[in-house]
Amino acid sequence: MSKKNTVTADEALALLRRGNQRYIDDVPRLPLGRPGRRYETSNGQWPFAIVLTCADSRVSPELIFDHGIGDLFVARVAGNVASDEVIGSIQYAVQFIHTELVVVLGHEACGAVGAAISPPADAPAELGGLAAKIQGNIGREKDVARAVAKNANATAKQLRAKLKGAKLKHAKVVAATYGLRTGAVTWL
Ligand SMILES: [Zn+2]
Repeated sequence: MSKKNTVTADEALALLRRGNQRYIDDVPRLPLGRPGRRYETSNGQWPFAIVLTCADSRVSPELIFDHGIGDLFVARVAGNVASDEVIGSIQYAVQFIHTELVVVLGHEACGAVGAAISPPADAPAELGGLAAKIQGNIGREKDVARAVAKNANATAKQLRAKLKGAKLKHAKVVAATYGLRTGAVTWL
């Protein structure tokens, strides 16, 4: 990326689609923290996309989208929910780094969504609160795959409202899901 954030939301989406295809095809560019890139980004960052995804160890945005240091502004929390801290982080990137695309990425077989469908009896209070937040997004949905999509769409909707409220509605928010076996990102 250049030294100024000039990537539009549509261009960013195209970069992510192409990167995910490289990942699926197993032909990554492997831009993992080259010394030159570290130097280039040491005085500022211009990530072209914001990604909110799950804390799950199998859903690493830089790998899935085949991009490296300085490319993606990432917020991760189990179940990719929009807590106040997550919303604030995203608003920061939109307002001050001028990143225009926000991706809410759910994933296949999400354990947090599963816990919202069938809450474990012995869950600590905070985990219960997280599951309850996801429950609010999925309603009575019992199918995990459909619930994952619903949760991502509901979170995207909440982020749109919060960005609009902060006079940042020029940012584009899209929802997607990730297939653990295929490696493919499906845009909702
Ligand atoms: Zn998950």
